[in-house]
Amino acid sequence: MRCPACGSLEDKVLETRTTANGTAMRRRRECLACGFRFTSYERVEDKPITIIKKNGDIQPFDIRKIERSLRICTDKRNITQEKIDDLVRSIEEAIQIQAGPKHEITSTAIGEEILKKLYTLDPVAYVRFASVYRQFNSLEQFVDEIEKFAQPER
Ligand SMILES: [Zn+2]
Repeated sequence: MRCPACGSLEDKVLETRTTANGTAMRRRRECLACGFRFTSYERVEDKPITIIKKNGDIQPFDIRKIERSLRICTDKRNITQEKIDDLVRSIEEAIQIQAGPKHEITSTAIGEEILKKLYTLDPVAYVRFASVYRQFNSLEQFVDEIEKFAQPER
């Protein structure tokens, strides 16, 4: 896997885990060139989850967008990479369960799920997310907005 930090293709796998609902494998990797640690996911190709927005528009669900927004909200909060990974995983699983056999979920339900999980992890990150999310009143709008400020992944 290409290292997101230096672009080297040489890495070693530190840990392999299956997510609780068995739909994905995640691997913690370490770049042999620069030591950067990152996570890769392997999934069964499944019917993608569709997000239904408040205005009725639909959009494919992308956990990476949520992951990026969580990284921004938890910036400088001294939360370990592992904790963030666990948070992302638990949010994704909750969304998969809520989406059910129809593979559909509302954007509001996603936002509330993130808030619920974030609340238990870190109050400051929760307030950051909540203040922006509630202001925009739509997760997509929020994610679009923070992506403008997002740092490239290190
Ligand atoms: Zn590297």
